[in-house]
Amino acid sequence: MKASEIRSTFLNFFESKGHQIVASSPVVPGDDPTLLFTNAGMNQFKDVFLGFDKRPYSRATTSQKCIRAGGKHNDLDNVGYTARHHTFFEMLGNFSFGDYFKHDAISFAWELLTEQFKLPKEKLWVTVYSEDDEAYEIWNKVVGVPAERIVRIGDNKGGRYMSDNFWMMGDTGPCGPCTEIFFDHGEDVAGGPPGSPNEDGDRYIEIWNNVFMQYNRTEDGVMHKLPKPSVDTGMGLERITAVLQHVHSNYEIDLFVALLAAAKNAVDFAAGVTDGGAGCDASSPSLKVIADHIRACSFTVADGVIPGNAGRGFVLRRIARRAIRHGYKLGARAPFFHTLVHPLAVQMGDAYPELRSNADRIFSVLKQEEERFFQTIANGMEILDSALAAVETSGTKQIDGDTAFKLHDTYGFPVDLTADVCRERGVTVDQAGFEAAMNRQRDQARAAGKFKMAAGLSYSGVPTAFHGYEHLNCETSKVVAVYVD
Ligand code: ATP
Ligand code: MG
Ligand code: MG
Ligand code: MG
Repeated sequence: MKASEIRSTFLNFFESKGHQIVASSPVVPGDDPTLLFTNAGMNQFKDVFLGFDKRPYSRATTSQKCIRAGGKHNDLDNVGYTARHHTFFEMLGNFSFGDYFKHDAISFAWELLTEQFKLPKEKLWVTVYSEDDEAYEIWNKVVGVPAERIVRIGDNKGGRYMSDNFWMMGDTGPCGPCTEIFFDHGEDVAGGPPGSPNEDGDRYIEIWNNVFMQYNRTEDGVMHKLPKPSVDTGMGLERITAVLQHVHSNYEIDLFVALLAAAKNAVDFAAGVTDGGAGCDASSPSLKVIADHIRACSFTVADGVIPGNAGRGFVLRRIARRAIRHGYKLGARAPFFHTLVHPLAVQMGDAYPELRSNADRIFSVLKQEEERFFQTIANGMEILDSALAAVETSGTKQIDGDTAFKLHDTYGFPVDLTADVCRERGVTVDQAGFEAAMNRQRDQARAAGKFKMAAGLSYSGVPTAFHGYEHLNCETSKVVAVYVD
C-alpha cells in the first residue's frame, strides 16, 4: 500500500465509524499564541475540547500537517539520528468530542491495525498510564492483549524513561492520560520494549497515541476538568507506512524514495560531480536530513512563513540552514536545496494542493535564503573546523561560547547548527558561554544607544531590532538575537 492509500484507508475507516473527515489546518496555528507551529492533529480542535467552540459533528478524523522543531515537542535534533523522527510529518487522527471514550477508541484502533491493516498481533505492544486500570482492563480483557505486552508507564516526573503516558499539547491546554501502541520491528534492530531503560531505540517504534482528554492545564499548573471526557489520537503516517511497506526506517517509504534520489542529484550537481561520477553516498544521513527539511521548509513557506530572525521565521531559517550545511558537508558548493521544492510538490501535491500552487513562490523564497547563506557558509565552516581541530587537540571536547557566538553573529550559523556540526565530532557547545556572549553584546548595544541619546544624536527606540542576517556580509555587524523555544 502506498502512503496515499494508507492515508485514505485511515480516513475512510473512521468515516465508516461516523467520523466527519476534516481537512488539515495550516502548520501555522490560527490564533494560538501558546503554539509556534501545529504539533498535533488536536490543535485545530483545541477550543472544541475546551468547550468554547461547537462543531456540527461530535466525531472527526484528519490527516494533519505537523511541525515539531521548537517548543514542547521538538524533534529537530533527532532528524538524521533516528529512523522515526521528522521535523515535518503527517499525523492521522480520530477525535471524539464528548462522544465515545476509552472503550471505543481502543477497539477502533485495534480493529484498524489488525483487521484492516492485518498487522500481526504478537508484534504489537501497548502502554497505559500507570494509574489507568480501566484502559489496562480494556486492552487485556476486551481486546485480549496478553499482560506481558502491556506496560504501565507514569508521567515521567522522575525523568527516568523517555516514555510519558500523560500527553500535553504544550505547557498549557488540553491534556490527559494516554495509551500508546508500539510495533516491534524485530531483533535485528537495537532497542528495548517501551518502559525499559533502553527503549530509546528504533526496534519498538511508537506508532499510535490515544489520548483520553480530560483536563485543561492552565499557566499556574492547575488541571481543570474538561466539560466532557474526549478522545484525541495521533498516528504518524510515515511510521505506519514503514510498517505496512515492510521497511524499518521512515526514510525508506515511498514518500521519501524519490525525494532522497532528488536530494542526491541536487547535491551532486552542486558539488560539480560530472556524468559518470558516483557522487555522495546515497545512504548518507545528511541526505535524510535534507529530504526531511525540504518538507518542513516548503510546508512552512506555503502556509505563509518567510525566513527571518524571530519566532517562526527564525525556526524556518534554522531548519533551512541546517539542511544547507548538510549539503555542504556532502560537497555542494552552490545552492541546491531550493531545487527540491518541485520534486516534493510532485510527491505530495495531490494530498496538499497548496504545495503545488505555491511551488514557484516557495522555490524563490528558499533560493534567496540559500544564496544568502552560501555567502558566509564557507568562511564559517573554516572557522568552525579550526576551532574543532583545536578542541580535539586540547581534549576539552567543547567549543567556547565566544566562537559559537561569532559564528552566529557574523556568519549566520544558528547555534543549533553549530551544535549539529560539533555533535558529529563528539564535541558540545558551551551554551551558557554563548548566551553570555549574546547578552554582553545586547548590553553594549543598549549602552551605545544611551550614549547616543546623551550625546543628542538621533535615536529611534530600543536597540533590539535584529538586523544581523540582513547585513551578513558585514563582518562587524552587531546584532541582538531573538530566541525561540
Ligand atoms: P516519540 O516518543 O517517538 O518521539 P511522541 O510520543 O513524541 O513520539 P506523540 O506526541 O504521542 O509522539 O504523537 C503521536 C504520534 O505521532 C506518535 O505516536 C508518532 O506515530 C507520530 N510522531 C510523533 N513525533 C513524530 C515525528 N517527529 N516524526 C514522525 N512521526 C512522529
Ligand atoms: Mg517525541
Ligand atoms: Mg513517545
Ligand atoms: Mg507519544
